[in-house]
Amino acid sequence: MSKTANPKKDLQVVDGETVGQPSREDAEDAVRTLIRWAGDNPDREGLLDTPARVVRSYEEFFNGYDACPNTILERTFEETDGYDEIVLLRDIRFESHCEHHMAPIIGRAHVAYLPRRRVVGISKLARLVEIYAKRLQIQEKMTAQIANTIDEVLEPRGVAVVIEAAHHCMTTRGIHKPGAVMTTSRMLGAFREDAATRQEFLSMIGSPASSGTSFR
Ligand SMILES: [Zn+2]
Repeated sequence: MSKTANPKKDLQVVDGETVGQPSREDAEDAVRTLIRWAGDNPDREGLLDTPARVVRSYEEFFNGYDACPNTILERTFEETDGYDEIVLLRDIRFESHCEHHMAPIIGRAHVAYLPRRRVVGISKLARLVEIYAKRLQIQEKMTAQIANTIDEVLEPRGVAVVIEAAHHCMTTRGIHKPGAVMTTSRMLGAFREDAATRQEFLSMIGSPASSGTSFR
């Protein structure tokens, strides 16, 4: 019997079969329970198809578990004519969900690296953000995961990731502070060690949360 842990979903694969993942029917039943918990009747006409829709939405919200972030960055280009300055993709809008309340986290990521010989297709950086966003997250972890994956796969001279986001668990419930924006950053290599490189990156992305791009 072969048994492999699947770290993405904490599921176990036993003899080629994934165990532990509930059926679609189980998931829809869970939504019906939550509707009843909210105080409504899941059998009334307007709510009949809601459990199926919610479960399909979850497939979309959490499709990052099925994708491999490292594979995304594996195809690289080496014909760069010696380009060795910062490569930055800024204002990558994302939607994620906080792992504490399963409430939306809506934000923007700025992702930069200092290439060492090879570069990656720029859309791959956006795709990487997307894969980590489409999981249950906390912003700190997501920031680190994006930076660490680029560092591991591309082995650049440095990586910088800044994320600004609004957390609906604190804007629409709880402490109710709409407009509050959380900023996290992870700097590796040259961005961590060299103040001038870090400053160049920070000026390229502009002052966080004041550039007028709305994401709330
Ligand atoms: Zn939360």
